[in-house]
Amino acid sequence: MNGATTSGELRAHNRVRLLRAVHDGGATRTRAQLTRDLGLARGTASVLVAGLAEDALLHEEPAPEHARGRPTQVARPHPEGPLALAVDVREDAWELAACELGGDAHVLEVRPHDGTPRGALGPLGEALAEQTRRHGHRVVGVGVALAGPVRLGGLVDVAHLGWRSVDVPRLLGLPAPVPGGAPIVGNDTAFAALAEARRGLLRGVRVGLHLHVDFDLGGVLVVDGRPLDGANGTGAEFGHMPLGGGDRPCACGATGCWGMDVGANALLRQAGLAYGGGQGREQAARVLEAGGPPLAAAAKALGRGVAALVNAHDPEVVTLSGLGVDVLAAGREALLEAYGPGLMAIRRDRPPRVEPSALGWRGALLGAMESVFDAFLTPEGLERWRLSRA
Ligand SMILES: [Zn+2]
Repeated sequence: MNGATTSGELRAHNRVRLLRAVHDGGATRTRAQLTRDLGLARGTASVLVAGLAEDALLHEEPAPEHARGRPTQVARPHPEGPLALAVDVREDAWELAACELGGDAHVLEVRPHDGTPRGALGPLGEALAEQTRRHGHRVVGVGVALAGPVRLGGLVDVAHLGWRSVDVPRLLGLPAPVPGGAPIVGNDTAFAALAEARRGLLRGVRVGLHLHVDFDLGGVLVVDGRPLDGANGTGAEFGHMPLGGGDRPCACGATGCWGMDVGANALLRQAGLAYGGGQGREQAARVLEAGGPPLAAAAKALGRGVAALVNAHDPEVVTLSGLGVDVLAAGREALLEAYGPGLMAIRRDRPPRVEPSALGWRGALLGAMESVFDAFLTPEGLERWRLSRA
């Protein structure tokens, strides 16, 4: 065995572990906590932290408060450190943020779009190129969440908007070479579930169910912190199962999809208003606020479907993000009235809790960020960073 190679590899491995611990802990842990959590010798931790600070990956700051004794240092992201550009592309607008190690997201721009692939993705590509120029080598990757199934390679269908096999990386048209490689394109529900597993209520949960509601609904099972996204990356689609009891044809091509009965489109339809095409977010919010039959119908359909999925998958907890948070808050009673009777008798003694996401509307964006940092927090990613600064 080559000793030099081994110790070099060990050091590279420990650099990744330490940065990963800083990132996953929200950049709030002290050096002493990190040293203990990672089982490092104090001298080793000092050398690692010094090296990471020199490479502009970390920056130590005094802890805001310490009861007594010596001031303690918290490992924070370096002011010139790596940035992930993360985007949540909804059916009516996109939101772009710059994210630091530790998970802080600074929203740079929110822009409405016309619902066409070019209208949505053309200006977004320009905004990403502009941010990449502005921040230079600090941009280590781009993650993009979209409201539809994403096949490997970034081909997206958004049924409500009539998008079929839209080549997202091509339409974004980012100038090559993009730091960190091609943009990471993923489904909004799968990203929201990933974020919930890293920084929300699914953290440390072995089997969880996450549902993301916007104009319709997506859902995915999360096992050991990983959303089960299928053989082709298109698995986060519980919304396209006939769980709500309806029988209308869905824009996806199937019939009776659950997502047609839960979400902004369903609220608008139940209230007798125009719906579809990514239009009517504000009106749907007003319908929800007014309560009454449209809200009750959506909450009931949601509860009924959750019960079916709980019967199938036996999750510890069910988390709702996006509009699901509001449906749960305003329609909890109707939801639980459908949830309870839908459960198998063996599940009724201790039914899994149905909880609002700790991350609200931010989940899809934060999941896109996590995907970028997952690719970056590797020995190869850190080596590329070092070389890019040289
Ligand atoms: Zn469908």
